[in-house]
Amino acid sequence: MPVTLDPECIFCRIIAGQAEASLVYRDDSTTAFMDIYPVTPGHVLLVPNSHASDLGHLTDEYGSQLFIIGRRVAQSMRRCGLRCEGINFFLADGQAAGQTVFHVHLHIIPRYRGDGFGIHRKPGFGPPPREELQAIAESLRGALRQSGWAD
Ligand code: 5GP
Ligand code: ZN
Repeated sequence: MPVTLDPECIFCRIIAGQAEASLVYRDDSTTAFMDIYPVTPGHVLLVPNSHASDLGHLTDEYGSQLFIIGRRVAQSMRRCGLRCEGINFFLADGQAAGQTVFHVHLHIIPRYRGDGFGIHRKPGFGPPPREELQAIAESLRGALRQSGWAD
């Protein structure tokens, strides 16, 4: 897989061994290391070994490895003695989604009851009418077809 690193990017610098990190895993496609500000103890970041600022710039090859290796790290998280009653995968794509480091990364977060972490909806959030769900699904199907990703 072709590798491009951005010298300005902190995660590229970690991949290149130029910035300090607590490494968990590394192969040709991905590197896993501990998040410097963990949400819970054991919070891992898994990154593609080639710079991609967001999902639009990530190749299928790197993207699929991110899930394959992410699942293995998650399974290991359950077995390594950490407090881990559950696990969240989280990926922020874009500033509005909370992305602060612009090199794609999958958060792998050990969870336990009362850990204080969560995804919150606005108060009063309920299921929208079926017509609204159908209309959005149709728009998405159209966009997938337009990209040649669906028939
Ligand atoms: P985002 O908000 O983009 O989804 O997540 C960025 C994550 O990178 C944050 O959880 C933050 O703690 C972590 N982070 C930022 N800078 C560094 C760093 O220099 N080293 C490590 N290990 N993690 C970092
Ligand atoms: Zn990078």
